[in-house]
Amino acid sequence: MPSAPPLPDRAPRADAERRLFTPGPRGDLSVCLAYPNRYALGLANLGFHAVYRLLAEDPRVTVDRAFLPEGPRSGWPRPFVSFEARRPLGDFDILAFSVSFESDYVHVLDVLRGAGLPLRRSARGARAPLVLAGGPATFLNPEPLAEFVDLFLIGEAEEMLPEFLERATDGPRGREALLERAEEVEGAYRPDRYEARYDEEGRLAVFAYRGPRGGPGRVRRRYVHTLDRYETHSVLLAPEAVFGDKFLLEASRGCEWGCRFCAAGFMYRPVRYRSPERLWESAARGLALRSTVGLVGAEMAGQPGIAGLCERIVEAGGRPSPSSLKADLISPALARALGTAGSRSVTVAPEAASERLRRVINKNLTEPEILRATEWLVGHGVEALKLYLMVGLPTETDEDVEAIGALVARIRERLVAGGAPKVGRILVSINPFVPKPWTPFQWEAMDDLGSLRRKLARVRRQLSAIPAVQVETESPREAYLQTLLSRGDRRVAPILERLHAAPDAWWSILRALRGGRGDVVDPDRFVLRTWAADELLPWDFIDHAVDKRYLLAEWRKARAEIQTPPCDTHTCHACGAC
Ligand code: SF4
Repeated sequence: MPSAPPLPDRAPRADAERRLFTPGPRGDLSVCLAYPNRYALGLANLGFHAVYRLLAEDPRVTVDRAFLPEGPRSGWPRPFVSFEARRPLGDFDILAFSVSFESDYVHVLDVLRGAGLPLRRSARGARAPLVLAGGPATFLNPEPLAEFVDLFLIGEAEEMLPEFLERATDGPRGREALLERAEEVEGAYRPDRYEARYDEEGRLAVFAYRGPRGGPGRVRRRYVHTLDRYETHSVLLAPEAVFGDKFLLEASRGCEWGCRFCAAGFMYRPVRYRSPERLWESAARGLALRSTVGLVGAEMAGQPGIAGLCERIVEAGGRPSPSSLKADLISPALARALGTAGSRSVTVAPEAASERLRRVINKNLTEPEILRATEWLVGHGVEALKLYLMVGLPTETDEDVEAIGALVARIRERLVAGGAPKVGRILVSINPFVPKPWTPFQWEAMDDLGSLRRKLARVRRQLSAIPAVQVETESPREAYLQTLLSRGDRRVAPILERLHAAPDAWWSILRALRGGRGDVVDPDRFVLRTWAADELLPWDFIDHAVDKRYLLAEWRKARAEIQTPPCDTHTCHACGAC
């Protein structure tokens, strides 16, 4: 007799977790919140924490969680069961995905299959759970998942999840009934209500709402106006989690600088900051549990009161760990606080090495500012610098690529010449540029793979000659997949199904389809093509509050190497978000 599949090892993990809030009473709407990757990564994601807490505190809901099982796929249990109650995922009223990264799309399919559900929404019956998805990857462009998900919530969960639950609990359960009520929530996107048609060249020609409400069916992204209304920090501490040694605390959403490649700088507009007082209150609570407070935001050096907050954390015996710092905004006080706390590593992101290319991407950052910041940080005792740079950016020349090695060499020389007490390591992280929806570079092609490989090899050669420099690079193939899933439309669905069926062969599958040689859409169309300015884009139906004409103007300014000053949310109305 075949033995029963082993149950996941829930107890040790659950016992090792520490919950930092009091859940509400259990309600009769059952929701399984799935993070489409491993447990350790799910617990490193503040968005997942925030949604879990909202659901767990709501007395109308009984919430459980799900993650990808550990170990090789061949050993995954069937069916997948939830983390706490070990309940099959297909038994819940709602299976809700929190999706932060396009690279997890294939795992969404893994979880659906593990739940015993047909992958395509059109094949699922009335007894299936409602399959819901939200998270930043899906509110940039939900279309690659549109054939698999019943309903997307486009926007920030704090703003719309309570309204969704109000509708969901106000009537009978069942997939169709839930869907009918939930689609009325502002920001909800129900893909089966939309029809996509393509012209003979394969461009999206029509994307039209065909539902009962009539009208164009534009979906307005929802966002939280005042971050201080909510606390967003670690609510589950687990030693196994990535960053498990830190108390993570969200300081801001968005960024005022408008770097033209950066989705976070446009999709979260207008930029919003938590007040220093609220941050300190949360940090002080976190310090009772963890000695390091991870301050999370797109750019942390411009955060109001950041130096004072870091100093208070240090005075309380803790260590502040900001996610990324814009070099020209680093003050001596901030550098001192980070150094005094014994910060092992601080991330600075020049993104491009030449002044010219930094103007193209609107970095508003000069080389003297980069050198000064690194000198301050290392001078105050920071042991390692992490530098983020990209290759394949629009308009990039050989000189721009050459400038990467030269910049790192000058940083190193300056640190040595300045007599920094401990010059330390420089970790250079180089990623191929990925064009993202809702940015001024959304129309740009990704650089071709051969060109990226040559550039990365050249930069690696240059950097290998500089002492104490480590290099890490993302592969051009991974960037290709990321671009496909960022800019794809619903024709990407059969590609995702193939990747799900044979994940280890993912590149062979894509290669076989490239150039229109397969029986599905040519993936190159979404990756290597410059899109026309007047072309209908798969994500145009979302209203992110940022005017497309503004993005186009920024794209043109990039080509003319003209920079745009940072946001002044009190006076500016330029992009439409304020
Ligand atoms: S309206 Fe102005 S300040 Fe507001 S997000 Fe747009 S560019 Fe920034």
